[in-house]
Amino acid sequence: MFKEKIVVRAVDDVNFTVMKGETFALVGESGCGKSTTGRAILRLTEPTDGEVIFNGTNLALLPYEKMRSLRKHMQMVFQDPYASLNPKKSIRQILMEPLKVHSKFDKKESLQKVISILQIVGLSEYHLDRYPHEFSGGQRQRIGIARAMILQPDFIIADEPVSALDVSVQSQVINLMLELQKEFGLTYLFISHDLSVIQHMTDRVAVMYLGKIVEIAKTEDLFNNPKHPYTQALLSAVPITHPKEKKERIILKGDVPSPANPPSGCTFHPRCPFAMEICKSELPDQARFEEGHTVNCHLYSQNKEEINYAISHS
Ligand code: SF4
Repeated sequence: MFKEKIVVRAVDDVNFTVMKGETFALVGESGCGKSTTGRAILRLTEPTDGEVIFNGTNLALLPYEKMRSLRKHMQMVFQDPYASLNPKKSIRQILMEPLKVHSKFDKKESLQKVISILQIVGLSEYHLDRYPHEFSGGQRQRIGIARAMILQPDFIIADEPVSALDVSVQSQVINLMLELQKEFGLTYLFISHDLSVIQHMTDRVAVMYLGKIVEIAKTEDLFNNPKHPYTQALLSAVPITHPKEKKERIILKGDVPSPANPPSGCTFHPRCPFAMEICKSELPDQARFEEGHTVNCHLYSQNKEEINYAISHS
């Protein structure tokens, strides 16, 4: 007897645009599909369908060799700097490698580039022949950033780049990323579950829940006026920054459902304090507000009486 094959849609029907020079955030709980989205853009995880348009080219259709040569324009900074650096290679070898694969520089020119990028990220020539285990977490992430930067990319996907670091070091790495963005005109896709970091360093935010985007807005709009019930719950958990500030925490019932067996209709309905009958069976369409603020929720497409009824009975 053969077991039935289970199809898990880690990411489904996700659609967003990252503008040149901006920092666009993907936020959501662990397992919501934000890292898979980032990896699918670079085809580190092959998407099964859809398009990824980079400067007019659909990356999803590119043959492997062409994709490889385009990768120099798109790089990734990973969450765990220790796991993403080969412990058997020195910093010189780690940083020379992308240049060997993607550039035509001779050895001397490559070495100059490596030294220069080390200085840019706050390290020095002195660190060239050291190994990853000889560095602190913050320094290792600087090396990860140097590796991503060495080919002078246009676009960097940073997947939880500071979540493995001590709080005291996080701000140093964030400031480094902001300085590099300013100096080199970088575009970032910043993946994080940390809303304080997102508020500090991003221009626009997409909120993901169970493999789908539920809300997109400018960062300021999202934090001042979250519309989706899931976003409201997420933001209610951000610690207050002033003793006079008052905030009511929204506790969601239940756990995030398994992506192998997602709920019907709006996948957030088993946990949503405002769920209506329609939410159990129909996927919400996208509602559009000012300044590119979009929300996928029936609350914004149903009539007001029904909404009020649902809210008063939640
Ligand atoms: Fe809640 Fe319904 Fe909106 Fe989903 S569509 S977030 S269940 S109100």
